Amino acid sequence: MKIAVFSTKSYDKESLEKHNIKGALSFTYFEESLNKKTTNLALGFNAVCVFVNDKLDSETIKKLAKNGIKLIALRCAGFNNIDLETAAENKITVVRVPAYSPEAVAEQAVALIMTLNRKTHKAYNRIREGNFSLEKLIGFNLHNKTVGVIGTGRIGEAFSKIMQGFGCKVVAYDLYENKELIKIGVDYLPFDELIKTSDIISLHCPLTPETHHLMNKKTFSKMKKGVMLINTSRGALIDSADAITALKSHKIGYLGIDVYEQEEKLFYKDLSEDIIHDDLILRLISFPNVLITAHQGFLTKEALEQIAKITIENISNFEKNIKTENEVLIAQ
Ligand code: NAD
Repeated sequence: MKIAVFSTKSYDKESLEKHNIKGALSFTYFEESLNKKTTNLALGFNAVCVFVNDKLDSETIKKLAKNGIKLIALRCAGFNNIDLETAAENKITVVRVPAYSPEAVAEQAVALIMTLNRKTHKAYNRIREGNFSLEKLIGFNLHNKTVGVIGTGRIGEAFSKIMQGFGCKVVAYDLYENKELIKIGVDYLPFDELIKTSDIISLHCPLTPETHHLMNKKTFSKMKKGVMLINTSRGALIDSADAITALKSHKIGYLGIDVYEQEEKLFYKDLSEDIIHDDLILRLISFPNVLITAHQGFLTKEALEQIAKITIENISNFEKNIKTENEVLIAQ
């Protein structure tokens, strides 16, 4: 099986090669992302292996089908970047890595909370310049604060447990209740009630047509003044323009994001010598109470190992015609 791996970074290559025992699969690595302009790179391959910012829209998938691609192997859980209908029409199977390390992403959400709150990033820079002043570094105790978790699947569950460890009251909203969380005292609330009562809101639901811009002008208006909003899920859960307005009016007191709606043009690239044309992210970066990381929630040794292992299993199972629950099917 010949697989074209897109958006390759050194750690992807290392972990895939480590788990490709005896070179059973033939991986060719491309640094380019996969989109309608780069499909020709997949000529002569049977499968493509892609990540969060590869854009497999209808046009791209039709071109891949013409090139003879039979399998799209995602190295991630979310599949909002794949036109599943076109894939099904063209008899292309889509597989993903549904769970590799929920704790890795949950811990990234906690890192954003801790840094925004206790301003360790600012203290680090100050002290390197010989500035030992504590002015403007005041944080707040997490103990006894209400944390609202939207989406209580694998990552939301891991995150809720960590926040309970801080002594927070954890409340949740999901289409389905997680029994494990109810058992340990997490209260499910209606969506409006959750956003009204939470001091910190963390997003862990997938990006779907229903959740697109779930956080917008209207929802911000119902939140507590000074709320902390954390997004490690998918960028388009938040309307960035509305978030900027809410930051300007101090409605949002802190914003921590590991994902951004226009991230495919920016994240995973060194643009330090380029002119950035995305005015929304530049405005977000300019706020002292906004912390952005470039979609690195998955970036732990343990998560990378699991991603590589499961991706290789997924491809091998496809080769052997074994169906597994890692196959992404269109909801009927
Ligand atoms: P999961 O499928 O285990 O859980 C998702 C939960 O969201 C489910 O309980 C589901 O019922 C709920 N949900 C679905 N639609 C909803 C809605 N409209 N309102 C409220 N809840 C809703 O997924 P997971 O493994 O916990 O991952 C969650 C998300 O995290 C993924 O979709 C992905 O976008 C993101 N993610 C980010 C990174 C990163 O590196 N930052 C890594 C992995 C996953």
